[in-house]
Amino acid sequence: ITTSDLRKVYRAHGRDTVALDGVDLHVRTGEVYGVVGTSGAGKSTLIRCVNLLERPSSGSVQVDGRELTSLSASELRATRRSIGMVFQHFNLLARRTVAENVQLPLELTGLTRRERAAKAAELLDLVGLADKARAYPAQLSGGQKQRVGIARALAGDPKVLLSDEATSALDPETTRSVLQLLRELNQQLGLTVLLITHEMDVIKSVCDSAALMRAGKVVESGTLNELLARP
Ligand code: ADP
Ligand code: ADP
Repeated sequence: ITTSDLRKVYRAHGRDTVALDGVDLHVRTGEVYGVVGTSGAGKSTLIRCVNLLERPSSGSVQVDGRELTSLSASELRATRRSIGMVFQHFNLLARRTVAENVQLPLELTGLTRRERAAKAAELLDLVGLADKARAYPAQLSGGQKQRVGIARALAGDPKVLLSDEATSALDPETTRSVLQLLRELNQQLGLTVLLITHEMDVIKSVCDSAALMRAGKVVESGTLNELLARP
């Protein structure tokens, strides 16, 4: 994932807010990369630009060698499926079972019902929730819900997983186990993970590299060892 001079200006009620002010980010394939910063620093906007949920005002975003800002609408939809996204509040559908939630991203892909069910079962096994396939989200703990969110994010076999404060709603012990899962998936699947957080502890426990954002800019970045060695 590479962004070059990425800018995003929101225009609301006649006021401009510069959310991203020339962000250059370089996430190497197969690494876990963390972006840390206080509220309002621009982290969510950054991840939404990488996920194509938000159109950048200017600059470029490349994922797996493709320039995202110049894709056609149909290419955009296809590319979006190849990028998994995990959310702070899980974003599960309450009226669908765990297995159905995991299958959601596969609904318009041409897979048969049986193929989708098999994929969901495989993914639930991967995240340690094989026995919860028929449960509903309300019957799960926060950590289990996030595991479902992660399984759903993996349904399209993405090369890249984006995580927006995935552990911020979880207690410390559950946070550790979810971060551990992300690390295992990174290693087992060769998945590149870009996560955003407001907690330095998250960065220290799971990231290979990180960037610190402040007021729409990256003010420091490097490998974890480099960052921890700096005063
Ligand atoms: P963070 O995720 O680090 O908290 P955000 O990316 O959410 O930061 O926000 C960066 C800045 O952009 C903030 O000043 C925020 O108020 C503003 N912002 C975010 N989304 C919008 C929006 N849809 N409309 C207007 N301003 C926004
Ligand atoms: P709109 O009708 O508001 O212009 P589109 O239908 O073009 O939106 O795009 C749908 C969504 O995809 C929007 O959230 C938009 O921000 C995002 N998007 C569209 N084109 C791009 C692009 N080239 N780069 C990044 N995000 C994009």
